[in-house]
Amino acid sequence: MKLYAPSTIKEIKNQYNFRLSKSLGQNFLTDKHIIDRIIEGSRIGPEDLVIEIGPGIGVLTAEAAENAKRVVAVEIDNGLIPILEDTLKEYDNITILNQDVLKTDFSTIVSAYKTEGKTKIIGNLPYYITTPILMKLLEERVLADSITVMMQKEVADRIKADPGNKNYGALSVAVQYYCRVSQIAEVPKEVFFPPPKVDSAVLRMDIREERPVVLQDETLFFTCIRAGFGQRRKTLLNSLTGAAGLSKDAVREVLQTAGIDSGRRVETLNLDEFATLANSMADYKSSH
Ligand code: SAM
Repeated sequence: MKLYAPSTIKEIKNQYNFRLSKSLGQNFLTDKHIIDRIIEGSRIGPEDLVIEIGPGIGVLTAEAAENAKRVVAVEIDNGLIPILEDTLKEYDNITILNQDVLKTDFSTIVSAYKTEGKTKIIGNLPYYITTPILMKLLEERVLADSITVMMQKEVADRIKADPGNKNYGALSVAVQYYCRVSQIAEVPKEVFFPPPKVDSAVLRMDIREERPVVLQDETLFFTCIRAGFGQRRKTLLNSLTGAAGLSKDAVREVLQTAGIDSGRRVETLNLDEFATLANSMADYKSSH
C-alpha cells in the first residue's frame, strides 16, 4: 500500500470516517520524492532518535522508522491515533504520543528514548503554528542536533534571509543565532492533499553547539532585536529609544560605544553587530 497516494488517503478517510481538519493544518504529503528529500535531508542515522511533529497518517513516520533506531511522533488529533496504529503496525520502533506539540516536554522524550545516537526533529509542520513551534524548540534549547521541517515558503524565506534582504527580521536573527540554516527543497502546493494556499519549503536547522556570538546578557540581545524590528522603518536611534528603559541620549551613547551609526536601520545589522550593540547596552546599564 502506498500510504502517500491520494487514493489511500481517501480510502482511510472513508474507512475511519475521518474528516480532515483545516484548522489543524492537515495537508498531507502525497509525493514520495519530497518525502525522501526530507528523510535524506535530515541525515538520520541507524542509531538516531527521531521526534516527528504532526505525523498525520504516517507517511514520514514510516520512512523515518526505516532509517532510525526509534521514532516518537507527536500528534494532537485523536482521530488520527487509531489510523496511525493501523498504518504503522508493521514497525516496532515507533511510539505515538497524542499531544499538543506546543505543550510537549521534549526533554522527557529525549531522556526516555535516546540511545547512543543523535536526536533529529522532523516534520511537515502544521503551518498555523510554525513560528511558535520553532521558537519553543530553540528557546527551550531542545536537546536535538537538527530540525528538518517543511513550512510555508514565506516563513522559510524569512528564516534564511540575510541582512539587507526585505525578508530579514527578528525571526531570521533568532533562528540564525541558535542554528545554521540550509534549504533542502522548495515544494509546490500541488503535492499535498488537500493543497494548501501557499507554496512550501523544507529547511534543515542544525543546532549550534556553541553560540556564534559572545553575549553578556542574552535577554538584552533579544530586547534589541524585538525593539529594532518592531519599528523597522525608523532609525536605530529612534527604534531603540525606550528599549530596556533607555532614554534617547542613553541609546545615542550605547550606539556610539558600539561603533554603530545611529542613523542606520535595524535591517542592516548582522548577528555580530546585534551582539556588539547588546553588549554595549549591558555595559551602559551596569555603569549607570
Ligand atoms: N506528516 C503528515 C504528512 O506530511 O502528510 C501530516 C502533516 S500536516 C501538514 C500537520 C500535522 O500536524 C497534522 O497531522 C495535524 O493534525 C498535526 N498537528 C496540528 N497541530 C498540532 C499540534 N499542536 N500538536 C501536534 N500535532 C499537530
